[in-house]
Amino acid sequence: MDSTASAPISFDYPQQNAAGATFTAQAWAKTPPPLVAIEKAQVIARIKELLIAKDAALVAHYYVDGDIQDLAVETGGFVSDSLEMARFGKNHSAKNLIVAGVRFMGESAKIVSPEKRVFMPDLDATCSLDLGCDATDFAAFRALHPDRVVVVYANTSAAVKAQADWMVTSSCALAIVQQLKLKGKKILWAPDRHLGRYIQEQTGADMLLWNGACIVHDEFKAVELEMLIAAHPGAMVLVHPESPKGVVDLADVVGSTSAMIKAVVEGSATEYIVATDKGILHRMRQLAPHKILIEAPTAGNSATCKSCAHCPWMAMNGLQGILNCLENTSGEIFIEEAIRNKALGCIDRMLDFTKNHPDLIAQAQHGFVKNIGAA
Ligand code: SF4
Repeated sequence: MDSTASAPISFDYPQQNAAGATFTAQAWAKTPPPLVAIEKAQVIARIKELLIAKDAALVAHYYVDGDIQDLAVETGGFVSDSLEMARFGKNHSAKNLIVAGVRFMGESAKIVSPEKRVFMPDLDATCSLDLGCDATDFAAFRALHPDRVVVVYANTSAAVKAQADWMVTSSCALAIVQQLKLKGKKILWAPDRHLGRYIQEQTGADMLLWNGACIVHDEFKAVELEMLIAAHPGAMVLVHPESPKGVVDLADVVGSTSAMIKAVVEGSATEYIVATDKGILHRMRQLAPHKILIEAPTAGNSATCKSCAHCPWMAMNGLQGILNCLENTSGEIFIEEAIRNKALGCIDRMLDFTKNHPDLIAQAQHGFVKNIGAA
């Protein structure tokens, strides 16, 4: 079986330094070679055997390849957003977790489940938000603002989480920041500037924003989206809050991947324009087969499309990589214990909050969901 990956492709992403200046940096991604049908069937069968034999569970993100999502579901694993992936891994009895997603997701699984061995199909699968927030620069920036509560998005390294008071995901960020604001706290937010700005607008909290961005969501275009909406006047527009303000302002529903799926499943509209990684369409089609899903535009007159609505690092997850984890124990996540312990604090705080305050999470969701009646 050919295990040679494609040639790496470079991607630009914004990186902030300790002084607060932003510059453009570059990272690479590569996709695993496609498997022919017979190879794919063999690899899937072997993975199924080994998941049982090795007491392992497969946890996948909505953005990875549909075959991997299906395999996770079929084998008693899980497909979800990053918050639920971490929670599932923590609560599952398996000794080994295979995390199909990007590096920070594997790290989060290891942080909350140190007794488990955590593996990833490709440890080089990263995220522009994680890359754009270097732990040393972040520490220096944070030291300049000691009066602020540090809230970091899940899309950060363990070393950045170790410096945070709270970790949040897009499912719970609004509710947690709302509560911090009610307590009179000022916030240092990192790394996603678009999500940070959206939460700032919604809550009125005093937030100092790190200047990071997701290279996938940053590419959605408001002008082209407006034209698409005009062509589909009955469509409900679903936007992930990592998208630019002009795109978010056109949304009927602004929310996490889970909230967007819920909107499609429960919504009364026939057509849905979806502004997030197109990997999510696989799950949406399964759960709402009669709905019409339209990808939001990343290309057009004002486009500089590099990502075309699919994360190049999520695309690094392949079936062969999963098999390698199980056969060769490759791709294991290790985190220095002192960092893991510190990072655990901010994740546990978030998990406790979401467990103890489902009412506040649901309430805050009304802030995300503008047209709640239809969603
Ligand atoms: S889609 Fe964006 S936020 Fe998600 S992993 Fe890829 S680069 Fe990071």
